Amino acid sequence: MTRKTGFADPHFHPNPLRGDDLDTFIRRYREAGGWFAGIVSLPPWNYGLEPSWDNYLKVMDLMEKICESFRSFGIKAFCFSGFHPAEVDKLIDTYGYKPIEVVELGFKVIDEVSKRCVEGKLQGLGEVGRQHYKTFADRAVISELILEHALTKVKDHKCPVQMHLENTKSTVQLVNIIIKHIRLSPSEKELIIFHHAKPGMIPEIKEGGYSATIPGTKKQVLEYLYQSYSPVYMLESDYVGGSKNPSNTAPWEMFSMINAILQDEEYLYKIMYENVQRAFHVDTLEQP
Ligand SMILES: [Zn+2]
Ligand SMILES: [Zn+2]
Repeated sequence: MTRKTGFADPHFHPNPLRGDDLDTFIRRYREAGGWFAGIVSLPPWNYGLEPSWDNYLKVMDLMEKICESFRSFGIKAFCFSGFHPAEVDKLIDTYGYKPIEVVELGFKVIDEVSKRCVEGKLQGLGEVGRQHYKTFADRAVISELILEHALTKVKDHKCPVQMHLENTKSTVQLVNIIIKHIRLSPSEKELIIFHHAKPGMIPEIKEGGYSATIPGTKKQVLEYLYQSYSPVYMLESDYVGGSKNPSNTAPWEMFSMINAILQDEEYLYKIMYENVQRAFHVDTLEQP
């Protein structure tokens, strides 16, 4: 079934401005069996842009174009744009933003992405979340405010949200509290995606009715997941185009590793197809 249905990478960052030839990239993605692509924006400076409002809009435009290119190859593509917690720190440290200016910019970005999500130009919000490293208290608060603002959009517009969180024992419980306040329905909760989740969090994420993507680029991790967990998660490459990181695995490399390790067809089908449909409401979220 699945080897027929195809493979999905719900979280990666191709960067046509820093070395990724989009046509070649998409061809390889499709040839490796990719049926669905979750493409997530990077901060403006990753594309050589200063972090101005206009440039945030340019990044969103770029995401729309990347998604259109994927679709022209027959791939179901969902594009996400957001305000990564690391942006909070960099805007203050490198670009001299005041904390309140970061909050205002973050909210404005989330509102614009949501608007484009309603219009069908973008398909969701992300990354938003909380720093997964040590930072200052006020910056953690800023990230939390932006995250909560983004999560209200799930209620208002049914836009999926990809979160990068701190991955501690209380992470899911802390999200549960926000979700309770927003009063999400079970079907809306499916659209909340814990990106870069640790395997140990899978049962709690499942219990909460949310979705999870686990980094799937290491052989040992894939073997461990396959042996130890039921297929209630998705696998992501989190590929970053233009990054100098040697562990930066391309989606097609991940697909071939998954193909070799996840032998059970039923198990693979759930991870590569059913869970992707559930997390992104692929058939109900209309694309232009
Ligand atoms: Zn991330
Ligand atoms: Zn990412």
